Amino acid sequence: MPQLKDYEAIVGTQVIDELRLLADKVKGWSVQMVNSTAVGGGVAEILNRMTPFLNELGINARWDVIKGGEQFYKVTKKFHNALHGKAEDVTPEDFSIFNETNEMNNKTLEITADIAYIHDPQPIGLIHQKDHKKAKWLWRCHIDVSNPNERVWSFLRPFIDRYDSAVFSAPAFSQELPIRQFLISPSIDPLSDKNRELGQETIEGVLKRFQIDPGKPIVTQISRFDYLKDPLGVIEAFEMVQRNIDCQLILAGGEATDDPEGSEVLAKVRERARDNPDVHVLAIPSGSDIEINALQRASSVVVQKSIKEGFGLTVAEALWKARPVVASAVGGITLQVAHKYSGLLCHSVEGAALAIKQLLQNPEYAAKLGQNGREHIRQNYLLTRHLRDYLLLFLSLFYGGDIIRL
Ligand code: UDP
Repeated sequence: MPQLKDYEAIVGTQVIDELRLLADKVKGWSVQMVNSTAVGGGVAEILNRMTPFLNELGINARWDVIKGGEQFYKVTKKFHNALHGKAEDVTPEDFSIFNETNEMNNKTLEITADIAYIHDPQPIGLIHQKDHKKAKWLWRCHIDVSNPNERVWSFLRPFIDRYDSAVFSAPAFSQELPIRQFLISPSIDPLSDKNRELGQETIEGVLKRFQIDPGKPIVTQISRFDYLKDPLGVIEAFEMVQRNIDCQLILAGGEATDDPEGSEVLAKVRERARDNPDVHVLAIPSGSDIEINALQRASSVVVQKSIKEGFGLTVAEALWKARPVVASAVGGITLQVAHKYSGLLCHSVEGAALAIKQLLQNPEYAAKLGQNGREHIRQNYLLTRHLRDYLLLFLSLFYGGDIIRL
């Protein structure tokens, strides 16, 4: 596990010094992160990296995962889709299932820390412990709720309103709320197995294991198999590219324990790809970080054709590897990709196909976009910036006024 000093070479000594200075004010406080899955998806990814570094900075940070059954995760997946603006038939029974599971977790998962940091809607009902706990309560929303389904949003509002503050990933996601709001973007860890430099032999070894031809340009999308990631649209765009350029597509993803739709979507993708030998559909187990790292590094173009996206860590991961990216202009992706500067944005299948073609045909231009992307991530979306934001956020919970003196 890398230590903070190891990041000096990437972000500069000053950034790390500032983190230690801020942490001196927060040392000894405890933070309890709670979400709904230990593996799969961006939230688990972030918590997995941030928790140990908070501890290194002297904050007593722990990470708990709520428990829930199949029914509960079906309901919360409906909530997730509905909050992203998708039409979903949410029933009164769904709301009851949600409440029952949250009440069960209130009995088994005790908030004991100074700061309760609750991620996304699934564990939001833990706020019922607020009355008899001294903690400050933060609700961290990773979803793009700029256009939420009204019924689900109204159901969640009484929970949200009881928190001390809410945290969103991007300015466009903030909502009218009676509590303070903070805008904090997620981040990636440049020294994790998912993102660190890899030797050429490791990359080639992974391609060989997945039976992918290293001599033919590779277009890749790494994502959970989720309709909102539009894997079928990616295949359609790829097949348009294939008419002009001999290339191959990798769609790689695994399961998240809180996403019950994964196997259905994977089956549809497999069916759609069955007759095209250049489309590789890879179901990879959780923890395949080196494999994902290698697939991203081996790609001529990385695609993220999401229909909705909270932030899109996969975009940051690809840009950090200086890969040319084609991504939908949705949610947090627009924070990361400045069109024609750090990648190409698209709005349709045809647009994605054109952009992929343009990058495959202009390797110099593609490389320039990738380099710009890497610098943009270095400046804005590495874990050190995220840690700084967390420390400032924690300080703001306990200090009155607008100015925090260091
Ligand atoms: N990821 C992974 N294995 C997979 C698919 C995705 O480890 O099979 C990782 C991916 O590398 C990224 C995160 O899960 O770090 C996905 O985060 P993102 O914000 O892109 O999307 P989310 O899944 O949270 O909607």
